[in-house]
Amino acid sequence: MSKLSGKVAVITGGSSGIGLATAQRFVKEGAYVFIFGRRQSELDRAAELIGSNMTAVQGDVTHAADLDRLYKTVKDTKGRVDVLVANSGVVDVKSIDDVTEEHFDKTFAINAKGLLFTVKKALPLMSRGGSIVLTASIASVKGMPGYGTYSATKAAVRSFARTWTIELKERGIRVNTLSPGPIDTPIIESQADSKYGADALRASFSAVIPLGRMGQADEVAAAALFLASDESSFVAGIDLPVDGGMAQV
Ligand code: NAP
Repeated sequence: MSKLSGKVAVITGGSSGIGLATAQRFVKEGAYVFIFGRRQSELDRAAELIGSNMTAVQGDVTHAADLDRLYKTVKDTKGRVDVLVANSGVVDVKSIDDVTEEHFDKTFAINAKGLLFTVKKALPLMSRGGSIVLTASIASVKGMPGYGTYSATKAAVRSFARTWTIELKERGIRVNTLSPGPIDTPIIESQADSKYGADALRASFSAVIPLGRMGQADEVAAAALFLASDESSFVAGIDLPVDGGMAQV
């Protein structure tokens, strides 16, 4: 039987990389999926790849009105949310000497504040037995030059999962964090100024991953499916690394 048969899922950042692979996997497993992101071109491309049982809503997690419009669309068409994957995120690589207030505010606005309001605004629609999956990163437990602000946002995300697990227990909603290691998605290119630079980054990540390669978005989607589905019915408040062992050994 399909693992998400009849479930309604919302995936922020569902237009690219890990979010897109998760949306494709969820639809294959019987879910109806709402994806959310800023660029209409990417949403349109994702809609073609996902095919059916999906709605794309354009918007920005840092704009409250956009999140309200997302959930109004969900409410008007499906009436509820069973699974929320709060996954939108950005990386802006800057060492402590180069950080600016603008860099700090933008990274926290999207990765931490945007994620918090993505969850808060979903709650009125969330059903008993619902599952919230927060995309963090193994960067939250590693010291990686240039990733100080990003890693701190992801440590905040991991912390939210602990608090919300307790705060939402009476409502029967589970919250877990998923922490990818380096995964080959467009976010890798966003950290380099050329194809050569992106390939060098891929090589440097692969060299420090025990499995000897970067991960694929599908491999993270498989873990998101586990946390979203009833297969993980007794799993709450955890951080599930999907990192080829990078932060584990
Ligand atoms: P990606 O391919 O760049 O996808 C990021 C997604 O987030 C896109 O759909 C993007 O769409 C959306 N997004 C970004 N800013 C947004 C905003 N302000 N409002 C709404 N949507 C926004 O990267 P990815 O690798 O799949 O990343 C997904 C998540 O995994 C992120 O949280 C990232 O930090 C985390 N992660 C990734 C890796 C990795 O190595 N790939 C490792 C650890 C953790 P728009 O730009 O069109 O808005």
